[in-house]
Amino acid sequence: MQLFKHQPIKIYNSLSGTKETFKPINEGYVGMYVCGPTVYSNVHLGNVRTFMSFDMIFRYLKHVGYKVRYVRNITDAGHLENDADAGEDKITKKARLEQIEPMEIVQRYTVDFHNILNTFNFLPPSIEPTATGHIIEQIELIKDILNNGFAYQVNGSVYFDVHKFNETHDYGILSKRKLEDLIHNTRELDGQGDKKNPQDFALWKKAEPQHIMRWPSPWGDGFPGWHLECTAMSTKYLGDQFDIHGGGMDLKFPHHECEIAQNEAAKGQSPVNYWMHANMLELNGQRMSKSTGNTVNPDELLSGNNKFFSKAFAPSVIRFFMAQAHYRSVLDLTDDGLIASEKGFFRLMDAINLLDGLKASETSSVDINTWKQKCYDAMNDDFNSPILIANLFEAAKYINQVKEGSETLTKEDAALLKTTLHAFLFDVLGLENVTKKESGQDKLSGAVNVLIKLRQEARANKDFAMSDKIRDELAEAGILLKDGKEGTTFSLL
Ligand code: AMP
Ligand code: ZN
Repeated sequence: MQLFKHQPIKIYNSLSGTKETFKPINEGYVGMYVCGPTVYSNVHLGNVRTFMSFDMIFRYLKHVGYKVRYVRNITDAGHLENDADAGEDKITKKARLEQIEPMEIVQRYTVDFHNILNTFNFLPPSIEPTATGHIIEQIELIKDILNNGFAYQVNGSVYFDVHKFNETHDYGILSKRKLEDLIHNTRELDGQGDKKNPQDFALWKKAEPQHIMRWPSPWGDGFPGWHLECTAMSTKYLGDQFDIHGGGMDLKFPHHECEIAQNEAAKGQSPVNYWMHANMLELNGQRMSKSTGNTVNPDELLSGNNKFFSKAFAPSVIRFFMAQAHYRSVLDLTDDGLIASEKGFFRLMDAINLLDGLKASETSSVDINTWKQKCYDAMNDDFNSPILIANLFEAAKYINQVKEGSETLTKEDAALLKTTLHAFLFDVLGLENVTKKESGQDKLSGAVNVLIKLRQEARANKDFAMSDKIRDELAEAGILLKDGKEGTTFSLL
């Protein structure tokens, strides 16, 4: 398919702050790097949202015919608790607390990450490199940065000299910050004693004797700074300059700003043509975050076993809910929102399952080609999935109208509608065609609702022994009843 040639895609570039027409470095090929997880705890749904946005972008670029090399790393070393190089390495700390090897932590949470992404039907990236697998490349980069005069060595650590760099370059070009403002706003933190200036960041940190994750280097035993791994791995697999770099909005500064500085300092060029940042998932109006504990893990939402939501939701329903917001908008995870998405999702699946049984007519009363182009226009406009989905609902409406006889479709148009719907729903949005019945939810809900009704009747007759028995025995079977203002709901334990 050579569709990309006729369908220019606009991408919002965080570097320029505008939507730009996408021009890949090599025609027909896209190199895309996305910062992966730091594998020291289970991923939460906020992390999943960011990776899902880029999974959809990867899927769309492939769908329109690009050959995409998608690199998403695993951070298994070097990410300190504090972005300003203070505190402990997150993985080392977790290993110390659990009294196991850091690599056991890494293994456990990498497996968890992959399981979660499989549950949500993610495509695997083309390459998934690890920081610990690229220590040599990181050391080479540090040597280049030192040789070019943009770093200094102190007591076995190497720091990037932000002030020196800013004399000839623009530190803050991506995050639109000015070094003077940063100087004004930075507090001295513990553990920064070696740095010339608090804005400098670690390229290599000396390992204290008790530090388990350590590698030899020209500056002594130590470990690489967090920002460096992404520079090393992105350029190794995609070239010193590549097309797209993505990540969550919170990584823009300092992480991505430092990546630009490192690449310019080492190789004399800005690494990325299009910087893309996905916006945050909130829970009850507050950012979902490991550090504040305001999180819901995917398993908890899939099983319904959590304190925030009235029921369990299927993976495709959660995926659909996320795709109903643009990747650059903040999205609040709410019960009402998920329930509305669930209804919409099953409405689309029901419509698609009607397609094969539609009666063909001599003529079409709806223009399927125009509708199809509107779907592409939506995605070509900075991957606007909510507008795409609005168009998919339009198609569901046509299908129902054709079924009822108020609109008509020829055999060819029905086939075109089907291939386009399949392409967008399953290939691009990554949904799976489950109907309510197949998901098992319908039957289970039906059975539990019968028991909820019997319990209500028992209560109305003041037969509290019976009503408690129903509640307790359901709990034993792993089904928790919750009495609320709107009546009784249930979740799976
Ligand atoms: P981490 O494992 O903390 O490095 O995060 C992995 C990815 O998840 C990064 O791209 C973060 O920007 C992203 N992320 C973290 N919290 C959220 C959130 N609440 N909503 C969306 N993305 C998030
Ligand atoms: Zn990164």
